[in-house]
Amino acid sequence: MTATHSGNSPALWANLRDGIVSEVETARTVLAQGDDRSIVSVARTHLARYGAVVVALMDEHAPDAEGNCSSCRGGLFGRKRVHAPCKPLLHYQLALTIPSTLAGWT
Ligand SMILES: [Zn+2]
Repeated sequence: MTATHSGNSPALWANLRDGIVSEVETARTVLAQGDDRSIVSVARTHLARYGAVVVALMDEHAPDAEGNCSSCRGGLFGRKRVHAPCKPLLHYQLALTIPSTLAGWT
């Protein structure tokens, strides 16, 4: 795959990211401000999907036999192996421990 392949397009990435952020922000708004019926509807739809996202994230960033993340690289040239748990998993864990009021959810 080359940099010009549509799969690596910055515009495609931006559209994908914007769509995901928009969907998450909409769900967050409903959860923070919606009535009970709307909250239940969003929770039913999104919790299972977000659970699948978390599992996929954990699978992608699972440690290899040496305890390094199988996906992440660090260092000046991106060649250094990164010990697990890596940043994506630490960010996820941190997000779970921050009260929703500090995370801007309410
Ligand atoms: Zn990783």
